[in-house]
Amino acid sequence: MIEDKNQQRTPLSDLGEFALIDHLTKNFKINHKSTVKAIGDDAAVLDFKNKKIVVTTDLLVEGVHFDLSYMPLKHLGYKAVMVNLSDVYAMNAKATQITVSLAVSNRFPIEALEDLYAGIETAAKIYDVDLVGGDTTSSTTGLLISVTAIGEVEGDNEVYRSGAKPNDLLVVSGDLGGAYMGLQVLEREKEVYKVNPNSQPDLEAYSYIIERQLKPEARKDIVTLLKDLEVKPSSMIDISDGLSSEIIHLCKESSVGCDLYEEKIPLDPVVISTCEEFNIDSTTVALNGGEDYELLFTISQDDFSKIKANPNFTVIGFIREAEAGMHLVTRAESRIPIKAQGWKNFNA
Ligand code: ADP
Ligand code: MG
Repeated sequence: MIEDKNQQRTPLSDLGEFALIDHLTKNFKINHKSTVKAIGDDAAVLDFKNKKIVVTTDLLVEGVHFDLSYMPLKHLGYKAVMVNLSDVYAMNAKATQITVSLAVSNRFPIEALEDLYAGIETAAKIYDVDLVGGDTTSSTTGLLISVTAIGEVEGDNEVYRSGAKPNDLLVVSGDLGGAYMGLQVLEREKEVYKVNPNSQPDLEAYSYIIERQLKPEARKDIVTLLKDLEVKPSSMIDISDGLSSEIIHLCKESSVGCDLYEEKIPLDPVVISTCEEFNIDSTTVALNGGEDYELLFTISQDDFSKIKANPNFTVIGFIREAEAGMHLVTRAESRIPIKAQGWKNFNA
């Protein structure tokens, strides 16, 4: 599928490393005053005056984090940026710069890297971040892409995982489980395609969840919205590994417990119907699916009136003393301890 759109296959060796970097990055614009020197020297130079800086990095590995048989490279570039920006927003910070490092094998033509960079460029434009550097090297196996994101915080506005207090409300943005169910649909279609390469799948009904998997959006808008509503969360984390593992991180870092209400977990109707089709429990998917890139945060009850009418937010539970433990309160009102699912990538 890599060559689908772009028929030409110019070998990477046609350009040297420097010409390649030049070629891939020539369209990127620099928009932030804090970017003093971007690509082109031994290091980027950034000047944030006396603001606090947040830095985060993620590494995506072919065959572990993505499968190029259904992940177009343009989407991969976009998603690699989103994964990192999501971590910046989870600190209640504004993302300003990124670096992108690649290890590529010769099986990728220049056109494939152009697609990858087209996705990175779209993400950089929409989310207003400057590309200020990276590294490019060869790989004997698959594709590796590592993005580092840098952001800034006004005053003391950063939000840690550690600030949740008993009686705070547990709130989540958007809805959960879509990315995981999108992946289930894509995996199924891949199997069908193996058996019958001429089959033309009709994925229209699944477009929302497939988009959640292939083209996730980081919740920059939520950081802005919270600021406009004058709500500073007491703690925050982004949902990359599934709700249960993020709740556990947040509660452990804050030394608190919580009650999470199953009936409150926000699910899109397409997630519910696809779960029925696959015979999977939708609560399990929301708890353990991952890759939703929504924000999970806690607020003081005094702030409830500021968020309650907003369709972007759902209150899904509340914080308790550590001794109470962390529980899922089911629809049948039984209390089940919330358990970590371990690290998916190693368990698979
Ligand atoms: P060095 O030899 O000092 O590591 P490089 O030749 O790797 O420098 O990089 C030259 C410049 O190009 C640097 O500014 C670096 O940050 C940037 N760069 C290298 N690879 C990439 C890439 N894949 N994407 C964006 N910028 C890159
Ligand atoms: Mg280098």
